[in-house]
Amino acid sequence: MLLHSMWERTANKRPSYPRLTGDHHCDIVVIGAGFTGLSTAYHLQQHHMNTIVLEHDRVGSGASGRNGGEVLTGYLGNMEDYVETKGLPVAQEMWQLSLDAIDLIEHIITKNNIHCDFTRSGHFHAAYKKSHLNEMKKNQAFMARHFDYHPIKIVEKKDLPTELNTPFYHGGAIDEKSAHFHPLNYTLGLAEAVTKLRGNIFEESSALKIKWKSTNKVIVSTSNGRVIAKKVVMATNAYAGDIHKRIKKSIVPVESIMISTEPLTEKMMTDIIKKDRAVFDSKHLLYYFRRTADHRLAFGGSGRASSKRDLKRIYQNLHKGMLKVFPQLHEAKIEYRWGGKVGFTKTFLPYVGQLKDGTYFAFGYGGHGAAMATMLGKVIADAIFTETDINNPLKIKKLKPIAFHSQHAKGVGIMKLYKQFQDFIS
Ligand SMILES: Cc1cc2nc3c(=O)[nH]c(=O)nc-3n(C[C@H](O)[C@H](O)[C@H](O)COP(=O)(O)OP(=O)(O)OC[C@H]3O[C@@H](n4cnc5c(N)ncnc54)[C@H](O)[C@@H]3O)c2cc1C
Repeated sequence: MLLHSMWERTANKRPSYPRLTGDHHCDIVVIGAGFTGLSTAYHLQQHHMNTIVLEHDRVGSGASGRNGGEVLTGYLGNMEDYVETKGLPVAQEMWQLSLDAIDLIEHIITKNNIHCDFTRSGHFHAAYKKSHLNEMKKNQAFMARHFDYHPIKIVEKKDLPTELNTPFYHGGAIDEKSAHFHPLNYTLGLAEAVTKLRGNIFEESSALKIKWKSTNKVIVSTSNGRVIAKKVVMATNAYAGDIHKRIKKSIVPVESIMISTEPLTEKMMTDIIKKDRAVFDSKHLLYYFRRTADHRLAFGGSGRASSKRDLKRIYQNLHKGMLKVFPQLHEAKIEYRWGGKVGFTKTFLPYVGQLKDGTYFAFGYGGHGAAMATMLGKVIADAIFTETDINNPLKIKKLKPIAFHSQHAKGVGIMKLYKQFQDFIS
């Protein structure tokens, strides 16, 4: 089975960036050219700090160029849970950060004229069970009361046709502040903005070794060259290899897969998703989907294959899921299938910080990195520029490796079975 990302095939023309050869000097070396790394470089260059970005493959080849492009408010889970664990003031700061993240992306897109179909039409959180709709109602009231946040609107089951043409859900909740975009085109646009500000990007230039010489001198080696810099930023998220073991062991990569239909008529697409919102549901093994600018349905879910036969099966299952939600699409051809890795932390919240050895990092966005990664890249850049400690509600002081990290693949498999079971019984 051939896997091709629809975003790659429908992307704007992309330039090729060179491979790193020889010695290069700069202020900051950033490892990873996704949302996090490119946003760090973009904001550093705005502060006139000379940056080099090293990318193992091509710009956006990690999760940033392959995701659902749903630019969402908030985090995994309800804010009520974070009020309990972190207290109301910190939870309020976290919430505001998630709103600011979407504003920041909108600002970057407008300022740099990035053609990525950014559409701020909100999201729809579809209720898989009646009980889930009741929880959404409680959440709406909680957010209004404690966060003075009012853009959440409840849609009862009888009104579902105003949002989605499907019998599959029991209503849901709208949040008008969310958005969606073509994720790869945004990534490519951000890369172009970095180079316009005189930052340098090197593709097919995997960082193989980081060696600190002093608190203000670090050497990052690739197979054909070296970058000699004052600071290093790790922006490798779920694709973190062995280059920084502590970071690798603090993140659990989980596969997510997507399919996309052929372009359908505008009428058909408007009929199934009425208001062009980014949609995700409340299943434990969730589905997420949306219209694209060229009138396809992009549909995602979870799936991890351990063999070729498995690979076929997981995409067939996702297609079956899509047809359960929208049976009217039974004749629509599936043109693309692809997947990528989503990074989770132990707390299910993103982490940003600086290690004792001086390395900066941000990762572990779960399914919310399309918004938050750009913001945390800026947070790192600002801290470096102002030479101050990171001051942010998501800051983590010490990275503690996840126990039994090497067993995570098995663990994720077991967790998925458990979640399937929860979907069945809850
Ligand atoms: C299928 C899928 C769907 C998703 N849907 C959504 C969604 O709709 N909304 C949402 O908010 N989030 C979604 N996500 C999550 C989101 O894409 C990520 O949170 C986000 O892209 C993380 O950005 P990043 O820059 O931190 O990491 P990445 O984009 O993964 O970038 C890391 C980069 O580091 C590079 N790298 C790794 N090691 C090295 C090395 N040694 N040297 C050089 N480079 C290296 C990798 O090649 C990669 O390009 C989805 C993810 C997937 C996979």
